[in-house]
Amino acid sequence: MSGFFDTKIDYLRGVGPQKAALINKELNIFTYGELIQHYPFRYEDRTKFYKIREITEDLENVQVIAKIRSIETIGEGRRKRLVAHIFDDTGEMELTWFKGLQWVVKKLVIGVPFVFYGKPNRYGRKFSIAHPEMEPLSQVQEEKSFFQPVYSTTEKLRARFLDSKGISKIMEGLIQACYPQIQETLPIDILHRFNLIPKRDALRQIHFPENPELLKRARFRLKFEEFFFVQLRLLKLKLTRTEKSHGQVLNQTELLTKFYKEHLPFQLTEAQKRVVREAYGDMKSGKQMNRLIQGDVGSGKTMVAFICILIAISSGAQACLMAPTEILANQHYEGLKEYADLMGLNIALLTGSTKKSTRKVIHEMLLSGDLHIIIGTHALLEDVVQFRNLGLAIVDEQHRFGVAQRAKLWAKNENFYPHVLVMTATPIPRTLAMTLYGDLDISVIDELPAGRKPIQTVHRYDKDRLKVFGFMRKQILEGRQVYVVYPLIQESETLDLKNLMDGYESICRAFPEFPVSIVHGDMKPSDKDFEMQRFVKGETKIMVATTVIEVGVNVPNASVMIVENAERFGLSQLHQLRGRVGRGADQSYCILMTKYELSKDSRVRLDTMVRTNNGFEIADVDLKLRGPGDLMGTQQSGIADLMIADLSKDAPILTLARDAAEQLLQEDPELVRPEHAMVLRQIKAQKKHEINWSRIS
Ligand code: ADP
Ligand code: MG
Repeated sequence: MSGFFDTKIDYLRGVGPQKAALINKELNIFTYGELIQHYPFRYEDRTKFYKIREITEDLENVQVIAKIRSIETIGEGRRKRLVAHIFDDTGEMELTWFKGLQWVVKKLVIGVPFVFYGKPNRYGRKFSIAHPEMEPLSQVQEEKSFFQPVYSTTEKLRARFLDSKGISKIMEGLIQACYPQIQETLPIDILHRFNLIPKRDALRQIHFPENPELLKRARFRLKFEEFFFVQLRLLKLKLTRTEKSHGQVLNQTELLTKFYKEHLPFQLTEAQKRVVREAYGDMKSGKQMNRLIQGDVGSGKTMVAFICILIAISSGAQACLMAPTEILANQHYEGLKEYADLMGLNIALLTGSTKKSTRKVIHEMLLSGDLHIIIGTHALLEDVVQFRNLGLAIVDEQHRFGVAQRAKLWAKNENFYPHVLVMTATPIPRTLAMTLYGDLDISVIDELPAGRKPIQTVHRYDKDRLKVFGFMRKQILEGRQVYVVYPLIQESETLDLKNLMDGYESICRAFPEFPVSIVHGDMKPSDKDFEMQRFVKGETKIMVATTVIEVGVNVPNASVMIVENAERFGLSQLHQLRGRVGRGADQSYCILMTKYELSKDSRVRLDTMVRTNNGFEIADVDLKLRGPGDLMGTQQSGIADLMIADLSKDAPILTLARDAAEQLLQEDPELVRPEHAMVLRQIKAQKKHEINWSRIS
């Protein structure tokens, strides 16, 4: 299918080099193949006419047949507008124009029936359409489609007559030129089994549907196909690995038994036990483990990690744990060192700010095998970091690392790929997990340690700040500590930083009696670390920070999380932040501060946070609000490239597609059978277009 579909759109009838250049730039579309995937985002039924009385505000666009009663111009100069009063036998409404008035006036004829079309807005009791499409009824030609495609376009394209209609025209030519060239991409038995229409018909129907039924089937077919190939690729990856990559057998548990007997500080939850069993099952299997541990914040992933580390070391291997930030690596180091010391194991920390001399020692000790555990950041990925026998690599907070980085870890052991355990606190809905991490096995810690009190979350407006300060003081006097978090985004960094500093100062003024820490991205890592440690040790009572503390930091005594400008945070981020408290036995609180005026989406986010502590429920709302393309990690998986399927709505199709892909690989793992040739061809064609797919971020 490739050759022909790689043709530049310049060669398409009605396009030409100038328009092509504009489309390249505005829509990032260069070839026939890309253009044909510019699917309509909705369809309009232009066979339907509304009576004026039937119009409601939630209608997207309406088409009415009406006569003009009168025309007037209102206002002066640039604010001048033209208003036409129209009516049918059920009521009256208005049409408004702000531009091109002279031209419009010429077209309007009083007392003659017109077809008007556009988005109705309510003004008082009347509806009005701004800049409607219009045509005298007598000149309206029979519409050939029930479903007129609506394409996304841009201001610049519109100015060059490439509005939705213009694009539709081009598309007509494209489909005509392409139709005979479109090859089937799915095996015939899958088409039959799932009652799918052929690819070429699907493409034609998606752009120019003949009827609702065919449109539905076209959409189904194309969504199915998208999911199918994503799943196939992930499953193939997994297959290759489980077939080809032997894993070191790590089946010894002496250290673990000793730890359980002598040092385990609490009872493991049932969920933790289950996940440990699952990981242990992998590690002793002789196949490489590639397991994702999903667990809400505070579910105790670190302990599970440490237990796996003990298994690895008992069996004569080394272990590493990689975290996305220095603060987090530090924290893991401090936490695990305590246990490692009890067990007489050697552990070290390696980050960007580790001194050269220390580094050298660490490198040597890793090579000799004297160092059992290494904790660190990306610095661990450097080629100079070599192990005597790395058996287990743990990656915390996966979403910050790419697939390719995970792969780099594999190369750290020449004899066996190390077992890989990925831990994430970003709860993702099952559908997304399946797609994002389809190449991993998944374990879920779906239980919090006993005795945790659910965090109480409230939403407060900025004007209530004094009351909030009062609450903070009370908590601190009771021995607790408090986080105050500010947003920091790249685009408005200076402003945000000022905001943070102002906030810090006002807190210092309001609480002269308490020591206050501050941590933000502009500080030297060593300073950050120093401040963080002061807070961890309880020397400071309030931690003013940007989202650098978002992931993983663990201070059980902190019981209040205040989020400033909470409306600017995404849901998953808010949930992560809230997860920094509620880690001890005390009642914890999360206070979301916002200005008074909020967008609809912000309200939904805040209400969701107040309503529930359940990370999966929150992730679901998040997925619905933002769409999956925005969720972290999607970039690396190719999911962001979905053209038509929608993870938040099409989960059932995803499941079918995944089953189909699984079955296909069972029957023909290498896809060598002639009846599957098209599948292989399609995978290759996609690969060619996805050079960036596994780019290291
Ligand atoms: P996360 O899953 O967010 O990484 P942590 O591993 O940091 O969570 O654990 C959060 C807190 O819960 C830590 O203070 C840890 O010591 C504690 N913890 C973990 N497991 C248990 C358990 N089974 N019972 C009681 N406390 C636990
Ligand atoms: Mg953690």
